[in-house]
Amino acid sequence: MSHRVLIIGSGPAAHTAAIYAARAELSPVLFEGFMAGGIAAGGQLTTTTDVENFPGFPEGIMGPDLTDRFRAQSQRFGTTIHTETVNEIDLSSRPFRFKADAQEGSADSVIIATGATAKRLDIPGANDGELWQKGISACAVCDGALPAFRDQPLVVIGGGDSAVEEASFLTKYGSTVYIVHRRDELRASKIMQQRAIDNPKIEMLWSHVVTQAKGADFLEAVRVRDLKTDEERDIPVAGLFFAIGHTPNTAFLGGQIDTDEQGYIVTKPDSTQTNIPGVFAAGDVQDKKWRQAITAAGSGCMAALEAEHFLADNP
Ligand code: FAD
Ligand code: NDP
Repeated sequence: MSHRVLIIGSGPAAHTAAIYAARAELSPVLFEGFMAGGIAAGGQLTTTTDVENFPGFPEGIMGPDLTDRFRAQSQRFGTTIHTETVNEIDLSSRPFRFKADAQEGSADSVIIATGATAKRLDIPGANDGELWQKGISACAVCDGALPAFRDQPLVVIGGGDSAVEEASFLTKYGSTVYIVHRRDELRASKIMQQRAIDNPKIEMLWSHVVTQAKGADFLEAVRVRDLKTDEERDIPVAGLFFAIGHTPNTAFLGGQIDTDEQGYIVTKPDSTQTNIPGVFAAGDVQDKKWRQAITAAGSGCMAALEAEHFLADNP
């Protein structure tokens, strides 16, 4: 089947793009994925509990409820939604041809909003069904303000800008914030490094790794290993935050779109336009800095408006 606008993804970026494209009477078709990137349709918000920083919900809202609302609003204006993953797409000429799990088709314009997946460490105690989301998170900005973390020691794993930014943010809540880094120098930019060093509540554990998360119903301690001495010890903590990078969901593009060295789609400044005319990217798949539901939604809006202008100029 041929479509005017194909939207790939299912988080706030994809659904905001769908709402705008549907209201512009472009009859968008949205492929929401089936456990694409290891995450249920609805995207990263389906993996969290309270979302307290998305405007319009003064009491907060559960992540899965928010994504259900995005989806309902897309459908209300006529978006067609398929619960299939887009596995291949040919962007060499318009209309762009794609193959999903059970169907194939073509589209005059494409909005890629496939998001990113936060990397997690596969250590005992930190997995789904263990202490994941019970004191263990991959998003300090999202979860740091939870009462369980107030005035408690916390741990951030990583040595990049995210680790320092998240640790600095967490010092608002925690008593001490340990940054556990596997080397003896940070990857973070100099200004961020200085921020960590200057903050009296941040304590560096250089050349250390976390080998286990411990606790009954909620995180109580982490086991760390000093890589220089091989000594192990337990540190009592209430929170463990992974800041070891994200993986953008771009593998299915097969290298046809310009990305940076980490795989994030490169868009033109102040735009969602990729290097291929008619192909736009929105949300975390092209944003390694802000990574919030509201920023993803904002760029989804931009992508739909840019697709609308593109289709008007290229009927
Ligand atoms: P995503 O939410 O990443 O969704 C994209 C989805 O598209 C994928 O998950 C998958 O289902 C689908 N997909 C992927 N590939 C394909 C494909 N090939 N075909 C079809 N479908 C595909 N932000 C906040 O603002 N507030 C919070 O409180 C908050 N809490 C968070 C808690 C956690 C645990 C995490 C991990 C993130 C949190 N975030 C929060 C960040 C927020 O979830 C993301 O910034 C936002 O969801 C990004 O939206 P997105 O539209 O780019 O895509
Ligand atoms: P990075 O890839 O820069 O850093 C990831 C960190 O995690 C590295 O220090 C790495 O260690 C460590 N790490 C990776 N895998 C493991 C593992 N298995 N076990 C232990 N440690 C591990 O990711 P970030 O999310 O920090 O940053 C991504 C991009 O976003 C960067 O370009 C960054 O500059 C940018 N950014 C900018 C911000 C700002 O300007 N304010 C804020 C946040 C991000 P090692 O160093 O040894 O490889």
